[in-house]
Amino acid sequence: MTVIHFGRALLPDGWSSDVRVAIDADGRIAGVERGAKAEADDERAAIGIPGVPNVHSHTFQRGMAGLAETRGPITDTFWTWRETMYRFAGAITPEDAEAIAAMAFVEMLERGFTTVGEFHYLHHDRDGHEYSDIAEMAVRMASAAASTGIGMVLLPVFYAHSDFGGAPPEDHQKRFICDLDAFARLVEGARRATSPLPGGRTGIAPHSLRAVTPDELDALLPLAGDGPVHIHVAEQTREVEDCVAWCGTRPVAWLIDNQPLDQRWCAIHATHMTTPETSGLARSGATAGLCPVTEASLGDGFFPAVAWREAGGHLGIGTDSNVLIGLADELRQLECNQRLVTRSRNVLAETGRSTGRSLFDAALAGGSAALGLGEAGLAEGSITGVVSLEVEPSLLDSLEADMLLDIWIFAGRARVDTVWRNGVRQVERGRHRHRATVERAFQTTMMRILSA
Ligand SMILES: [Zn+2]
Repeated sequence: MTVIHFGRALLPDGWSSDVRVAIDADGRIAGVERGAKAEADDERAAIGIPGVPNVHSHTFQRGMAGLAETRGPITDTFWTWRETMYRFAGAITPEDAEAIAAMAFVEMLERGFTTVGEFHYLHHDRDGHEYSDIAEMAVRMASAAASTGIGMVLLPVFYAHSDFGGAPPEDHQKRFICDLDAFARLVEGARRATSPLPGGRTGIAPHSLRAVTPDELDALLPLAGDGPVHIHVAEQTREVEDCVAWCGTRPVAWLIDNQPLDQRWCAIHATHMTTPETSGLARSGATAGLCPVTEASLGDGFFPAVAWREAGGHLGIGTDSNVLIGLADELRQLECNQRLVTRSRNVLAETGRSTGRSLFDAALAGGSAALGLGEAGLAEGSITGVVSLEVEPSLLDSLEADMLLDIWIFAGRARVDTVWRNGVRQVERGRHRHRATVERAFQTTMMRILSA
């Protein structure tokens, strides 16, 4: 049993002073005591917060982060970026996938994320054939999660078509493609791989309405069991136009009209929505899985965050392409995008409330719901991880607690110091305990891929 004494800690009902958090050997919070003095064997930290789930990641894309920033001969868009991504995806072996995932998971833990929803679609060998174990790549994801200590909700992706209306897949999509029978075997294998992980779970991810037909979507849903269902939707205006051309309806409206949306569902991006789509999706109980850094990087557009909040919608935060990994970076980008759109400040908070705290609470609650994690705050039974922040000394005792989140998210005057997950300190003084080894394997992998 590990016990940590925090000077101040953010509990589900707000900040509390002199908090002792007891974590059992599996990493589950065994008890939270308020107003308690530190005992001799306690670990100590000034500021304690819960780890936040990362609802949407394609980990292998961390390897190509920063490598698609040269202007091409035509206007660069999501679609030209996707060509670079396909080339990179085509080169990766299972060993590479694991090395890159481990690096990304280390960075996630160092930057405030303690669980990852891995939207996993690189399934097959480079020639498109199944590995002898169809879940080989899923097993690699779970293995990287096990070695780095991040919590994993694996979301195997069903991908069968290149466009709306069941268009046949293109050659460079061959590593992603499954029929329904193969996908059922893949989900089974993913479940076997994640079940030994502390808090490990498996859901499903129909890739998008481009890649999955309505009949396939209906057939897939039972495979989710009680796990989450994530789908990319309305990320790009071209996707919206193509959807309208296919069925006469916009993609989010189509999902609302044709699928049993509820709190198990996470609509990834949902960038381009009309007002009725925004209120309808919020009413369904589904979470919007927002990835502000990637959405900005790819030029997707602005999510209607103000209308979403007013409609009572839940949001989770994902790192998606992993072009830059950081919870504070994502939350800052989300708020600052809205400032640019509305030409005002402190947009995503109630009057009189800290914006950083409002964003943090939303990402914790929505992310936990979207990954089906149950209680995710610093409370008995929670398994999702405990984080301490190191705060600039001059500010530590002079600020209200909520402002500590503001200076972390908006000013970089605080940072993640220690992360306890699976019952041990995975991160200490801002550095993952296995960083050196993981980084070496990642560098070797990248040198091989980039020189090929
Ligand atoms: Zn994505």
